[in-house]
Amino acid sequence: MTQQKAKTDNGTPAVRQMKTADSVFYEITRSLCPECKTVIDAQIHLKQGKVFMRKRCAEHGWFVALISSDAEGYVNSLKYNKPGTIPLEFATEVKDGCPLDCGLCPEHKQHTCLALMEINTGCNLACPTCFANAGTGYNITMEEAEVMLDAFVRAEAEAEVVQFSGGEPTLHPQLFEMMQLAKDKGVRHVMLNTNGLKIVQDPDFARKLGEARPMIYLQFDGLTDETYVKLRGEPLLKTKLAVLDKMAELDLHTILVAAIERGVNEHEVGALIKFGLEHPAVRGVNFQPVTHTGRHLPFDPTDRVTIPEVIERIEDQTEGVFLKTDFVPVPCCHPGCQSITYAYVEDDGKVTPLPRVLNVDDYLDYITNRTWPDPSKDVKHALEALWSSSAVPGSDKVAGNFDFTCTTCNIDLAITSEELAKRVFAVSIKDFLDPYTFDVKKVMKCCIGVLTPDGRTIPFCAYNNVGYREDVREAMQLERARARIVAKTNGAKTNGKPKTATRAAKK
Ligand code: SF4
Ligand code: SF4
Ligand code: SF4
Repeated sequence: MTQQKAKTDNGTPAVRQMKTADSVFYEITRSLCPECKTVIDAQIHLKQGKVFMRKRCAEHGWFVALISSDAEGYVNSLKYNKPGTIPLEFATEVKDGCPLDCGLCPEHKQHTCLALMEINTGCNLACPTCFANAGTGYNITMEEAEVMLDAFVRAEAEAEVVQFSGGEPTLHPQLFEMMQLAKDKGVRHVMLNTNGLKIVQDPDFARKLGEARPMIYLQFDGLTDETYVKLRGEPLLKTKLAVLDKMAELDLHTILVAAIERGVNEHEVGALIKFGLEHPAVRGVNFQPVTHTGRHLPFDPTDRVTIPEVIERIEDQTEGVFLKTDFVPVPCCHPGCQSITYAYVEDDGKVTPLPRVLNVDDYLDYITNRTWPDPSKDVKHALEALWSSSAVPGSDKVAGNFDFTCTTCNIDLAITSEELAKRVFAVSIKDFLDPYTFDVKKVMKCCIGVLTPDGRTIPFCAYNNVGYREDVREAMQLERARARIVAKTNGAKTNGKPKTATRAAKK
């Protein structure tokens, strides 16, 4: 503290004191005004062991949001930031700057590990928490699905994962044809992001799902009806358990996807993992602190749930089955976006997190910095593949990449790849950005892209926050309205029998 002597009005000396700032200014980035979405500067500060974003909009004033509850972990995680892989093609030009040129524009720093296809906007639930703001809108056509998939395949040397999403994608009448189209175009893994209702309501749909065999990404927020009523508007526990039993009957690998909200279900993370470890259909749990965009409950941006807090709760609530040290940031995207661990589960229920038997940290550090000695290229490549957004638990990619002969874990190696896939359990935490936490550093390195019907790929967090989702929805609704008018006009001219099928007629 620095002191300066000055005179007061009555001539006695006064001491003015300079104060030490209450935070460390760590870096500057670009973000959005949560009110008007204008792109503005944002400061990242370290304060009382936490990380905050602080920013000012000329019109709407100052905003502060919690980015991470662990400042040390945030700073250290940046060492995992590995060089990106440049896509083979870009769909837009650099014009107005990030995040207004999506995409992908030539300034993007990573290819798309996982592509999302939002094939409709309608849903059979009306969740109070829904970043997609599901409701009336549109279904995409097969022609549009083809444009989207072609764009993805053209940009990737190997198109790894397409996740069908919505709205609720199981309501789209051509879902199975679209999944087949993705496979026909060479996409390696097809995933279905669903609330699961249709699976228990429609036996024929469930049968077809069993034949199509996508990886199921199941909305599953907790093990109490109270949680479902708050987040989904209905007591859904019984339905969700029935969906999982159906998944086991069909032998479909499932990831439980739990939105975690302050004051709602933070206390359920351990129970969800324990439940998942015991259920035959479940290959992992993905926790997602609620993204406060679209529809969401009231919240305090300075008291959000962040990745380190979820990890801390996992350690506390699983009684050490998983420890904080088992989780490692995913280097293919920005390391602040996602952390993951894998465990090997034995017949007697013994759970061995992989980082306890392999020094994952050192291997990933080697991948990043190229300075570590390289005792095993196989293990290095295996870990690089696993700690990526395109690793699909329960898939051959995950099973095939485990080289247990390189470990000291004494696991029986005389098992097939399919059996191994069933023994590998993933626990991951993804902190998607909202208008309060939006950070161009993260979206520029984003490896999760939303395919749009006009052939663009828009990084997921840009799609949800910048206005792209609203623009696409409006354009699609306008297009559908125009097509309906054309169909009606043609119908009137031909006595009610349209001569040609329009895109809307094929919906
Ligand atoms: S997020 Fe990527 S694609 Fe979008 S504008 Fe920024 S750099 Fe370009
Ligand atoms: S969160 Fe999912 S299930 Fe809920 S309304 Fe939105 S799309 Fe439907
Ligand atoms: S989707 Fe969002 S949180 Fe995930 S990698 Fe992209 S920018 Fe990061």
